[in-house]
Amino acid sequence: MESELSALERFDAAVIRGEDPVNAEGTAVKVTTVDSEWAMRSCRGCGHTFRLEDVVQATYDASGKVRVREVRHTDSVLGCASGTGQADAVLAEPDPMVQRFQAAADAVDPPPAFPVLTRLTATHPLVADKPTRDQCPECTSTLRPGEMVVICPCDKGCQRAIHQDASRGLTCFDGMLAQHKRIICPMTKQPKDA
Ligand SMILES: [Zn+2]
Ligand SMILES: [Zn+2]
Ligand SMILES: [Zn+2]
Repeated sequence: MESELSALERFDAAVIRGEDPVNAEGTAVKVTTVDSEWAMRSCRGCGHTFRLEDVVQATYDASGKVRVREVRHTDSVLGCASGTGQADAVLAEPDPMVQRFQAAADAVDPPPAFPVLTRLTATHPLVADKPTRDQCPECTSTLRPGEMVVICPCDKGCQRAIHQDASRGLTCFDGMLAQHKRIICPMTKQPKDA
C-alpha cells in the first residue's frame, strides 16, 4: 500500500506512526489513546468527549488512509454511529425483571443514604441532546447515558452532576471527597456540608 502514496503522504504516515503507534495502520476502526489526535476533542456526531479506549470509526481525508479527517464513536449508547445523537432507547428504563431484582436486593441490603446515586437513563435531562453537553467537573468527560452520578445537593439547585460509577472506573465523587473532604458545588465552587 505504501507504494501508492506520495512522498509527502509517506512522511505524514511516518509522523502519525510515531505520534500514536496503536492507531498507526490506516484502518476504519481505531481505539482512542492519550496520543490520538482526537483525544482532546468532542465528537461531532454526538457532542460527547472521547475517552481513553473509546472505539471510534475513522474517515480519512482525500489522500486515502493517512490523515484522519473525522472520528465518531461506535458505541450505540451515544447514538452517533446511527447519526441521531440520541441514546439507544433500550437504556430508557431497565428491564422490569432487573428492576424487581434490584428492588429485592435493596430491601435486603439497603444502599447507603449518602451519597444519593442517580442512574442517567436515556431520557434524563442531564444527558439530553443539547448544544453543549453536561460535563463531570472532576474528570471533565461528558456525562453519558447509563452512568451513575451524584447530583449536587446545593441550595442553589444547580443540578450539576459528578460521576460515581465504580463499575465503569469512574469514582470522580470519591476523588472530590478525598481531595476536599466535602462536596464542592460545580456551579458556585462553594462547599456543601454533607
Ligand atoms: Zn460520538
Ligand atoms: Zn467524572
Ligand atoms: Zn450545586
